[in-house]
Amino acid sequence: MSLRIQFLPRLLLLLVVVFCPVIMAQRPGYTDTPFLPGGKWRVHDSARPYPRIVQGTPLFTAPPKDATVLFDGKNLDSFASGNGKAKWVVRNGYVEVNGTGDIGTRQSFGSCQLHLEWATPAKVKGKSQGRGNSGVFLMGRYELQVLDSYKNPAYSDGQAASLYGQQPPLVNASMPPGEWQSYDIFFTAPKFSLGKLQAPARITVLHNGILVQNNVAFIGATKHRAVATYAEHGAAPFRLQDHGNPVRYRNIWIRPTDTKKTR
Ligand code: MG
Repeated sequence: MSLRIQFLPRLLLLLVVVFCPVIMAQRPGYTDTPFLPGGKWRVHDSARPYPRIVQGTPLFTAPPKDATVLFDGKNLDSFASGNGKAKWVVRNGYVEVNGTGDIGTRQSFGSCQLHLEWATPAKVKGKSQGRGNSGVFLMGRYELQVLDSYKNPAYSDGQAASLYGQQPPLVNASMPPGEWQSYDIFFTAPKFSLGKLQAPARITVLHNGILVQNNVAFIGATKHRAVATYAEHGAAPFRLQDHGNPVRYRNIWIRPTDTKKTR
């Protein structure tokens, strides 16, 4: 009896040492991708801690008087798909991703305040990055991830409100599948001079009213399984991603905050 008690701690330690890597390996993500600047975490690192969960309260804010309304629930006239019409399905005051590709604004923007509301499918299908995936690509390049992150394990830098492949949100403020959620985005465009980056793009985000990104610099234009990099560009349309999941959007409005470069 006493012998068992003596060896119990060692046995538990052995179990942890043997099974911990197995458990970690089963977490979604990668162990063979390049390290992000700073060298602590890899891109989509499966071991990167998950943000803690904090219940948010979505903000369904009406457009301010000076906002440019991009989608009011009626039509997609402010958006295009490639050089043609945006073909996502508009009904009941929202627009739904339907597999016809990303859609982008017809107008170009730089620094801005951007509000949008979104909902992932009520009927859960797929898992991890395959569950309610879409995204907001500021200036067509810098992705603020949209994902069903409600009780859905996914690598931290790919969860809802992450800067995809770069920065997890401070907390997970996700609502359950099918429920409307809000993003309030405060974006500063990057600055370039003679082809060189002078100041990175920066973003502050409220997810369902909660601060989840606080003036965070983008490492570069979003990439999958690779470290993001910059290439000089000017004002550009922002894009909503078609990742093959029927994610819905509504009440999209924008307030450019760098009018010289965006009008
Ligand atoms: Mg995405």
